[in-house]
Amino acid sequence: MADDSAGPVAGCYVCDKHRGLRHAMPGGPLWADELTVVTHIDPRDTAVDDVYLGHLLVEPRRHAPGLADLTADEARHVGQWASHAARALREEAGAEHVYAAVIGDGVPHLHLHLMPRYPGTPREYWWDRVNEWPDGPHGGVAEAAELVARLRSVTP
Ligand SMILES: [Zn+2]
Repeated sequence: MADDSAGPVAGCYVCDKHRGLRHAMPGGPLWADELTVVTHIDPRDTAVDDVYLGHLLVEPRRHAPGLADLTADEARHVGQWASHAARALREEAGAEHVYAAVIGDGVPHLHLHLMPRYPGTPREYWWDRVNEWPDGPHGGVAEAAELVARLRSVTP
């Protein structure tokens, strides 16, 4: 049986990101502590070099596959950072609502997606199509980094 408490897993996208083995995330981590890291998704990881601005990821540092694998402390930290990040998206980015989802079909290291819904988003784009609204805010690395700096100004 795999021991996921032993440390970073080679080749894991999230472990590699936390260890600085990939390109830096846009604007750097928004917030991080001994158990948790919050980042903006990276346009360089998409085929079109373009992301939905405000799409954040909350991740345990430990290579835990899903919510059910978190320790009580990790769960508290992930929940608190998710709440804080959602508050920052509302206060600083103007989100009217923040969706949260764990998908995990591609990378077996928990990453909780937070996706803001901005005012004016047509009903047909709500929830899992919110990032497909053509008039929603999209951008590259520079735009994501600029938003990260603004969100980071919201102190926990
Ligand atoms: Zn990992």
